[in-house]
Amino acid sequence: MKINATRLEQHFEAMSLIGKIGETGTCRPAHTALEKQGFELAASWMQEAGMTTRIDNFGNLIGTLKGKDPSQPVLMMGSHLDSQPYGGRFDGVAGVLCAIEVVTTLSENGIQPDRTIEVISFADEEGWRFNKGLFGSRGILGKLEEGELQRADKDGITREQALKDFGCDTGKFGESEYAKGRIFCFLELHIEQGPVLDIALKPVGIVTGISGPLWLTVTLKGMAGHAGSVPMPLRKDALLGAAEIVVALNKIATQVPGNPTVGTVGTMNVFPASRNIIAEEVTFTIDLRDIDLGRRHRYEKQLMEEIEAITQKHQLTYTISEDTNSEPRYCADWIKDIIRSNCEKQQLEAPELMSGPFHDALALSYACDYGMIFIRCKDGISHNPLEYASYEDLSIGAEVMYGTVLDILAKV
Ligand SMILES: [Zn+2]
Repeated sequence: MKINATRLEQHFEAMSLIGKIGETGTCRPAHTALEKQGFELAASWMQEAGMTTRIDNFGNLIGTLKGKDPSQPVLMMGSHLDSQPYGGRFDGVAGVLCAIEVVTTLSENGIQPDRTIEVISFADEEGWRFNKGLFGSRGILGKLEEGELQRADKDGITREQALKDFGCDTGKFGESEYAKGRIFCFLELHIEQGPVLDIALKPVGIVTGISGPLWLTVTLKGMAGHAGSVPMPLRKDALLGAAEIVVALNKIATQVPGNPTVGTVGTMNVFPASRNIIAEEVTFTIDLRDIDLGRRHRYEKQLMEEIEAITQKHQLTYTISEDTNSEPRYCADWIKDIIRSNCEKQQLEAPELMSGPFHDALALSYACDYGMIFIRCKDGISHNPLEYASYEDLSIGAEVMYGTVLDILAKV
């Protein structure tokens, strides 16, 4: 191996101490002193790799390895160091530390690339503190939305205040934005956060794209009544209708075995929620994802037909609001080819798979070509202190990433 697996492991171990909870967990919220501590540690490694470092006005940590020709668009790599409140040691961290390892290895081999390389730890990828994620990666592309700075966390601290406390100048976002065409391509290594590679017994996977979620909120309205007296045929039971829709969504998402489609009802509110009242109103969310947008549209249509039929059967009325409707974003074929040839060099058979979860790469996909490398994670567990990826797999992933970067640098 060209990369230094021992050093990479030491970096993971050191980073896992910052915001450590329990034996193996992490709580490192965005724009906090803990994240700053993580940034300082990562920045020290970036500097050892020959990079200059800065924290921009969105709260991103950026390491720059200056190329011989700085006028060329930059090759960017990275992920995030913020974590879920009850998270693991690898989500996001893997992408930042492996990228630093790649640049350290370049420097150790005396390689100064023509184009500048940047490693970024994006601010607030996770999104739970202010209920909106991918903050830093959208920020550098000028894609923040109206009112985002006024969003407050559970303690009433606004994003604006948190950024100021972090040392950012929220009046100077423009200075931290990247001009169109400034980023040549983006690479992100991430743990899979699902079980596909673990089941296939493969350490590394090549991501085909990030699937677009459709998020709906459905409200069904029936009629409340005494659970002891209203005969079954006369009921307008909103919860019964909701239950049938949950089952229908499951059938729709699983109609073709092996397809990557996923459908989930994750929340449900029942009114008036009494054990002896027939439910009058039920509100629930639907999350439907697929890498094939045409198929997702077809399944959405099937779902609408089911909702119509089920509500008619139980004499319910319904409303549906669309909360998010994003399209899948595909990885660049030429980057996938380079990743694949680097897997082959290591005698790795790397499956191709889509990403259900978002990543910073989703934001970057609107600015440049991108590629992603997935690392096997045990039992697919993530957003949980039990999250685990082996150092061996992470080293293999970093080595694939190193070869990929060399090939990209040689290509153009
Ligand atoms: Zn992540």
